[in-house]
Amino acid sequence: MHDVGASLERVRERIARAAERAGRRGSDVLLIGVSKTVEVQRIQEAVAAGVPALGENRVQEAKEKVAALGRPVPWHLIGHLQTNKVRDALDLFDLVHSLDRLDLASELDQRARQRGHPVATLVQVNVGGETNKGGFLPDAVPAALEAIAKLDHVSVRGLMTIPPIAESAENARPWFRALAQLGKRVGLTELSMGMSADFEVAIEEGATMVRVGTAIFGPRPGKATA
Ligand SMILES: *Cc1c(COP(=O)(O)O)cnc(C)c1O
Repeated sequence: MHDVGASLERVRERIARAAERAGRRGSDVLLIGVSKTVEVQRIQEAVAAGVPALGENRVQEAKEKVAALGRPVPWHLIGHLQTNKVRDALDLFDLVHSLDRLDLASELDQRARQRGHPVATLVQVNVGGETNKGGFLPDAVPAALEAIAKLDHVSVRGLMTIPPIAESAENARPWFRALAQLGKRVGLTELSMGMSADFEVAIEEGATMVRVGTAIFGPRPGKATA
């Protein structure tokens, strides 16, 4: 049986070393345990072992897990959010990493206003300009941020990206660097970038949040959706 606690510990050590290489501290990087497709009991093990946050990519799946586990740590939404699921998402998540279009921003704003407090988000950037991928193209980000800034119940904390699939972590470095440079340009400090295969490189390039599933929980059944 895959040992979630031991894997989590190894990931934390790798985060600490990568942070050191970049002149930062491991504690400056938020580790989000990506628990999509993982059964509740194993998520519980990660919580017991001290995982600081959990990430899910589907609202319905998160709903079931939050019902079973409660909120021992913050839950983050890391996947595409349909407009008709915004209300549920606001119930469930402390941070939405996937603000990827303006109509979603308006819907989030409206629903968050009804609830009386702003929703925390990251703007998703399609750094590779891939046609099949969500998110704003890098050049479109400044204008998008200006538009979102007018919505007083959407708070943008930073940027998030899922770079093009790379053959090695090193090949992903230019994409991470591009996101970090864009973050500087627009004055946003949180950077959600890096997954199991490349989180160390992402941290070297300035990630403040890494989204790690497989390296903590083991392989997902049937290599489920990204
Ligand atoms: C599944 C997923 C991850 C985690 O992927 P691993 O390779 O298992 O670490 C990170 N980010 C997003 C957006 C995901 O969908």
